[in-house]
Amino acid sequence: MRPQRFRNRAAAEDAPAHAAADSRQAQSEVALALLSLVAAAAVATTPVPPPPSVSGNWSAEAILAARVDCTRLLAGLDVTAKPVPPIGSADSCGAPAPVEVTAIARVKLAPAATLTCSMVAALHHWVTGTLQPLAQSVLATRVTSIANASSYVCRSRNHIAGAKISEHARANALDMASFTYARADLPAGWAQWLGADGKPVAGSFIERVRLGACSDFTTVLGPGADVYHGDHFHLDMLVRKNGYRICQ
Ligand SMILES: [Zn+2]
Repeated sequence: MRPQRFRNRAAAEDAPAHAAADSRQAQSEVALALLSLVAAAAVATTPVPPPPSVSGNWSAEAILAARVDCTRLLAGLDVTAKPVPPIGSADSCGAPAPVEVTAIARVKLAPAATLTCSMVAALHHWVTGTLQPLAQSVLATRVTSIANASSYVCRSRNHIAGAKISEHARANALDMASFTYARADLPAGWAQWLGADGKPVAGSFIERVRLGACSDFTTVLGPGADVYHGDHFHLDMLVRKNGYRICQ
């Protein structure tokens, strides 16, 4: 997918159809501010196709608040992303102000991921603070791309019927299937650092990457963590009681 440029027109086009004129005006103004800020952080150059039609069922106030929050979270970050229309609703799957991300700190994310801005900000912190420093110090290279196995999906946890809603259904989770490295002699992925039990070998690059992620995300399920995460990484931002975190 080619990098894309924001279009200010998208701000008006993705406003909810039921919003009052005043709310829409205020929302558009804030959305324009968001677009210009996020665009400033982006390294995009080519035109973007028209945004998809409105699919969300959020109040204008909820969308506005989420976009203001998004602007604050992404200000100054090196991400290639564009706002997309609200998805779903507050009482089911969905997100009021998701973005479509194609690169984080110049690490390509392919295919593009649909995520909340808090998830994008956490990924940026992890890529710049953990992933690339470890790639440099342990492997003498840099990660050039992350294979996105899943971002926004309206589903329950682990696809189990009746289970609680997944953070994927809030655009607040990313599954990573592989990394690609700048060093030509390094195969993509992390199979080379997994033990016979399918889990990362202690002290290996991928184990250190996994442990580092546990300070940026509240849920980290690395390769081999359980039957649902045999070969990929799951990262999410679920807020639990008493600050409980999962790091496996
Ligand atoms: Zn997942």
